Amino acid sequence: TPPLKQHDQPAKQPSSPPLPRQNAKVTPPSPPKIITDKTRTFEFMRVGMLGEGGFARVYEVQDARGHRSACKVVTKCSLKSKKAKTKLYAEIKIHKSLEHPNIVRFQDCFEDDDNVYMTLELCHNGSLMDMLRRRRRFSEPEARFFMVQLIGACQYMHTHQVIHRDLKLGNIFLDKNMNVKVGDFGLAALIEIPGERKKTICGTPNYIAPEVLFDQANGHSFEVDTWSIGVILYTLVVGRPPFQTKDVKAIYKRIRDNEYEFPADRAVSKPVQELIQQILTPDPSQRPTLHEIVDHPWFTAGTVPGYIPTSAHDAPPDFR
Ligand code: ADP
Repeated sequence: TPPLKQHDQPAKQPSSPPLPRQNAKVTPPSPPKIITDKTRTFEFMRVGMLGEGGFARVYEVQDARGHRSACKVVTKCSLKSKKAKTKLYAEIKIHKSLEHPNIVRFQDCFEDDDNVYMTLELCHNGSLMDMLRRRRRFSEPEARFFMVQLIGACQYMHTHQVIHRDLKLGNIFLDKNMNVKVGDFGLAALIEIPGERKKTICGTPNYIAPEVLFDQANGHSFEVDTWSIGVILYTLVVGRPPFQTKDVKAIYKRIRDNEYEFPADRAVSKPVQELIQQILTPDPSQRPTLHEIVDHPWFTAGTVPGYIPTSAHDAPPDFR
């Protein structure tokens, strides 16, 4: 059974813990083969389908010069409510403001009568989630490589006052050189006042920090991304998320009780176990900073490969 199938849909509800989306999906009509806006400033040819998310479909497109991008398409029908519009504008505003080598680059945004289009840097090698499905789990040098780039992107977001709030393997993409590109800013939040705490319960069940679920009085902040980074690290080296169980309520109970273990059969090194334990500290104020994480011996005393070969999609590369 694929280890990561369930509970990977983001969920957002105002006042109770999130449950996976269970909307009966109606397939909207495909966008035109030639995508263009009213003033014809933008013109792209749709060349393939890349994937589907909670409220968008993503296509591969090509411009007149032959340059390829990803194009995220949101139907205007799905933007009838004020809330849906506000959410999309927030995603665009935040994503547009970020420029970092390990963040999916936001290129342009335009519309026609039926859809809103966002063109993004194309990530040729899918997501870490797709890759993990094929590989079952990653070697520790590979995990170090992905983590260094992910933490770099996260550090950049945090210094720009952005909390991603939905960091997970399915939102970490790989470009043609197998470099990490963090994407999907659909749940991201901007901290506008220093010290401000967010109260909305959101995230993806397996990756949600305990304070999001159980400390609504205090709210949450940047440390929720740090928690997700701990869940991601565990998932990379073990092959499944730490708190995973059949039902979402039971996942939340395990998150609340900080209940997870390292399987004895999977030779996960002591240093990485210790680092994961430090990151998965229930009290957000006691969680290590991103600097402290990359200063841990698991990073500083281990090999970090210079690059990951694309052959790593199917088999662990040999970094000796
Ligand atoms: P949503 O916000 O609706 O969840 P996502 O941004 O997660 O949508 O994208 C949905 C899917 O589209 C992803 O899982 C992935 O397969 C594909 N995708 C998204 N962005 C890119 C990209 N920049 N390059 C390649 N594929 C992408």
